[in-house]
This record gives sequence, structure tokens and C-alpha cells, in this order.
Amino acid sequence: MEQPMLTGVKMPFCPGCGHGPSVKNISKAQEQSGFSPLDVILVSDIGCSGLVDPLFATHTVHGRSSALGMGISMGLSDPRKKVVVIQGDGGATIGLQHLLEAARRNVNMTLIVLNNLIYGMTGGQVSGLSTSTFKADRNIEDHTPPFDICQLAHQAGASFVARVTSPKHFTERLTEAFGKPGFSLVEISSLCQPYGAGKMHDLECWVEDDMLFRNSREKFEIHTHKTASLFSESDIMYPEFNENAVNRTGVLIAGSAGDGVQSAARMLAGAGILSGLYTTMKSDYPITVGTGYSVAEVILSRDKIHYSGLESPDVIIIVTEDGMLKVKDRIGNDPTLILDSKLRDESHMHATYTDFIKTAGKKGAALCAISYWLEQSGTLKIDALLAAADRHRYAGKLKAIISNSVNLAQA
Ligand code: SF4
Repeated sequence: MEQPMLTGVKMPFCPGCGHGPSVKNISKAQEQSGFSPLDVILVSDIGCSGLVDPLFATHTVHGRSSALGMGISMGLSDPRKKVVVIQGDGGATIGLQHLLEAARRNVNMTLIVLNNLIYGMTGGQVSGLSTSTFKADRNIEDHTPPFDICQLAHQAGASFVARVTSPKHFTERLTEAFGKPGFSLVEISSLCQPYGAGKMHDLECWVEDDMLFRNSREKFEIHTHKTASLFSESDIMYPEFNENAVNRTGVLIAGSAGDGVQSAARMLAGAGILSGLYTTMKSDYPITVGTGYSVAEVILSRDKIHYSGLESPDVIIIVTEDGMLKVKDRIGNDPTLILDSKLRDESHMHATYTDFIKTAGKKGAALCAISYWLEQSGTLKIDALLAAADRHRYAGKLKAIISNSVNLAQA
């Protein structure tokens, strides 16, 4: 015996609401289509139509329904399963882009729009699908023409689209929609007693005529193909330089966006890995990547790093005013402070000031300063930094900057 699609739970709608008969017709069409309850994944949306979940014995999911339904359908591997989305006109308007995307891709699902011309749950405000005749009849001062959801879905590429204004066609159209591979949309005119139409006769005066479109298109299929692993393309670094003085050191490097701060930090991190250390790197720069500050944090550690944040840097390297403005509040607890000469300031008398920009230019200053610090402190071998730079497409120039910085530190 066929299993019923409805649970028998009492309808939650107001007396006379059109959603009740619609729910019955939807379940009837599902049964006529040969679905058993667990063949159907029913996705509901906002508003009164979103109260349908407990009424159906199917799988039910509630949320931003077109997008959710699309995702579910695209992830289904069992062709017997059917995604059915139920929205009101409010939900359809709010989620219009999702709806059109599902139609454009012809994703295998059926979207049912219960259009009662208003947002019933929030007090009867007009929606993007409220027709001009409805608004004019109600003296609603909104002369904006409505979306025609059927035309839009059809133009976007849906396989099947129907507008149904009379209950006698509900089941027939829904059954056809359920059986059509790809995206199908059925707009059903529905009564809302308190805020919209209380009688079918009124509603029929306000809604647009029935509509039927069919597109001959292949339904959406996911095509998967094997790609090379990201790791197989990566330049894997193995420890080469085992002598270093690091226990755990956090380095903050700050300069101007577009001036090679991130590349220099990456080379320091690479030098850490080549030295057999655990290493993390974090970047911070504005979304306009060519202007403003550029900051990087590198942690070098003999032990595993469980938290990559850098609360109190041990070393702060700043090469431009942009960088100083961004990180000056983080200069506390007496870190090793390496600054470009142009940033000389009596509040940082303990800093080491050197002509990094003058020596290596704006774009080489951060790497110059890192090399200078490594050479002076012996934290990592400079050969490790040279080996990290060697992997860069501008290796020659970068290695020259490192060598000049070593000379600067030894002078
Ligand atoms: S407010 Fe309108 S749409 Fe909502 S349950 Fe009541 S009659 Fe139905």
C-alpha cells in the first residue's frame, strides 16, 4: 500500500488559508508521481508557507530554500530522490537570485511558489510578486510593476514553468513538473484570509493569467574529473640547515603594501623550515593591496606551534611610515626593534636604525632588514635565507640584497 505523503498533523494555517489546499494538492501530485515519502526532500522557506515541515512525512529541511534545494540536488547521487522546494511570494522575491541560478543551471528540482500576493506572516506587506491590479484594488501606493516569476524562470532556462490560478489544474501541473528532469517551477495562486484575498473570485481578478512554458534542455549534471594534487605541485622544503639559535621567536615585519613585505616574510618562514623549525606566517594588509600598510607575522619554533597569533613579538622590523603607523602600538615589552633610518624617533632610542631603503630600495628594504637582523643575531644561518630566496623567480636580485645586507651588518 502506498505510504501517505502527509503526516496527518493539523494544518497550522488560518481558516480559509489557501496554503492548506495547496499542501493537499502537492502531496496528491507526489503520490501520483509514484514517490514514497522518503524519496522526497522537501525544502521550506520563510513565512506562513514555511510552516509546512511537520505536515509532510518526507525528509524536510528549512532555510534559504532555493539555494539549499539546489545544493541538495547537486549533491544527490540517487536519481530516485526528488527535491521539492516550497516558497511564498516573499521568499521567492528575497531569494530571487538563488531561484534564477537554479533555473539557469537547470538543476533537477521542483520549486513551488505559493503566491498569495503579500507577506502574510509579517502583517500583509506587498511583495515583489504582488500584482499591479491587486495593489490598485487595495489602494496600495506602490506602482512598481511586479516581477513575473514565471517569465523570469523561463528566460533563465527552466525546463518547465507553469502558473496555476485555478485549483482544478494544480495536481496536473504539479505532476508534470515533478516528472520533468531539470528545474521546474509552478506558481500557485493562494488565498490569504486576513491580509489578501478571502475568496477565490477576488483572487482571480488580481492574478495574471495561467502560463505554461517548456524548455528542451539537459538537466544539470556534475562532471567530476581528476586533477593533480595541490601538494604534488608544491615546492616541498626539507630541513637542510640544522644549526640555529632559535627556541621560539616571533617576528613582526611591517612596511608598505606592494613593497615586498610578504615575500620577505615568506623567505624568512622558508628559511625557518629549511632550518628544521616549525614555522607559521600570518599576513595583514588592506583589501586595496597596492596601497597602505603591509604586515606579516612569522613564528619560528623548535616545538609545535599550537597558536599562530603573535601577542608580544620578540623582534619588530619596520621599514616605512605606513608600517610604523600600523604597528606602533604593538611596540611594548622591549622587543628587538630594527627600523629604517628614516623612522628615527626619540621615543624609540633603543632601536637599531639602518639605511635599509637606501641600501636595497623600497621593494628590497624588508628583506634587507630581515637579513641584517639574522646576520647580527645569528638566529638562523644566512645560508638558509639564501636557499629560501633561491626558490624565488627573482632569486638573483634577492640573493644580492641578502649579501649586501650581510655586508651592512658586518660593517
Ligand atoms: S496569515 Fe495568510 S498566509 Fe498566513 S496562515 Fe493566515 S491566511 Fe495563511
